[in-house]
Amino acid sequence: MSALAALEASLDPSCVLVEPEAMAPFLRDWRGRRQGQAQAVLRPRSVEDVSAILRWASATRTPVVPQGGNTGLSGGATPDASGDAVVLSLGRLNRIRSLDRAGDTLTAEAGCVLAHVQQAAAEAGRLFPLSLGSEGSCQVGGIVATNAGGINVIRYGTVRDLVLGLDYVRADGAVIHGSKPLRKDNAGYALRDLLIGSEGTLAVITAATFRLFPQPRASATALCGLASPNAAIALLAALREVAGERISSFELMCDTELGLTLELVAGTALPLGGRHPWYVFIELADSDPEAPIEATLTACLATALERDLLSDAVVAHSGAQAQAIWHLRFAVAEANRLAGQSVPHDTSVATADVPAFIAGVGAVAAARFPAARPLFVGHVGDGNIHANLLFPKAFFPDAASYAETAERVNAAVFEIAARLGGSITAEHGIGRSFVGALRRAAQPEALELMRAVKHAFDPLGILNPGAVLGDD
Ligand code: FAD
Repeated sequence: MSALAALEASLDPSCVLVEPEAMAPFLRDWRGRRQGQAQAVLRPRSVEDVSAILRWASATRTPVVPQGGNTGLSGGATPDASGDAVVLSLGRLNRIRSLDRAGDTLTAEAGCVLAHVQQAAAEAGRLFPLSLGSEGSCQVGGIVATNAGGINVIRYGTVRDLVLGLDYVRADGAVIHGSKPLRKDNAGYALRDLLIGSEGTLAVITAATFRLFPQPRASATALCGLASPNAAIALLAALREVAGERISSFELMCDTELGLTLELVAGTALPLGGRHPWYVFIELADSDPEAPIEATLTACLATALERDLLSDAVVAHSGAQAQAIWHLRFAVAEANRLAGQSVPHDTSVATADVPAFIAGVGAVAAARFPAARPLFVGHVGDGNIHANLLFPKAFFPDAASYAETAERVNAAVFEIAARLGGSITAEHGIGRSFVGALRRAAQPEALELMRAVKHAFDPLGILNPGAVLGDD
């Protein structure tokens, strides 16, 4: 009996996919850049199934690639091309286990889709603030394993700031029950914090307990046209003075990116009178339904117009108008996918250094990659601007020539971020795409500690081999 057949015999038949057509969606990444192979895709129905699978994987030394919604942008959820691995898809562990109004917490299994978690919180009159363009597909396990960010980090932080506890299964199958609604817990090392952002390399997350927040009862949304990233930073400072922690989102986009989105994604429209070099998307929110939040935003934007920080602005007067503004922002990933072949980045720098970062990437693109259009979009308040160099569709004759150029573009962009004291990835993670870049960017002593942590959790190296730290 083959190793896989022995596992199949111990699981419900619905847990094991081996047919190529059934496995196909699990073996390709969201951007369509990586095509992996696997012995099987395993779809456990319970934590006991996950434990049995990992015991089997340890005994047979089978590589395991955990997968959630498969929306990750760093190649961490796609197995390599050897066909040795199994993909462990957590999508069937999809219960909201509990919601505690008194303590403002929610516990959800790893396969719950983010939008369902948001909805469950809203139905209880609470807010789960994580919001990403992929929220209709990405799952609890994936958002925790990548320490996802999104558009509300400026106010609520990344997933790390939202997680109170985790349940997970160790590489040897041991089940750890840490998904507790405790606000304070100093009992030993914070293993939870090691697992957040570990990208499937340390353990398989099976459930998470999150903090909830008061539901916003008043909100105000605006889209502004501006001359430069410097103006955006000045506008953010002005807005902070009047709106403080009520700023839920503050996002920046360049005009080329907006133009592509308007051209390529159905249902997008520009609510401003005309085009501008840069745009800022703003959301203010307050739990007090009487808070004069729209008036605050309108007054702040009027002053900014007088001070020439802004060229134009529109404040949404209905939920539908607000949705249309945010649709423009969220449609960017789809637009970039349709537009051509882009070399994307997820770097971060200090907020004040964002204009220098953008100028640096623009200059490098013009001098060294003239065929590419630089696109900038992202979370300016977090210093996390996604700089994408978009090449024409037919520019690369094959995958090897794309990879060769991407390597050079990445090196140039990472060098600019490093010069400004930034990070090579703010929210998407290392996955398989940036292993070499991490090795070059991290201090050797820090890498040594990371390897020791990996060995402590996964001594046989079966969990997502090749991701984050690479194979050695
Ligand atoms: P997957 O892609 O399935 O997996 C991601 C990583 O987590 C892999 O390494 C995988 O092995 C590991 N993993 C998955 N589940 C588990 C588990 N249960 N246990 C252990 N490891 C696991 N990201 C942001 O941060 N901010 C954004 O604004 C943002 N916008 C996006 C917009 C679009 C349109 C798209 C397609 C993606 C966007 N992303 C964004 C990236 C992506 O959605 C996030 O990284 C998300 O957290 C991935 O979740 P997932 O469930 O799809 O994980």
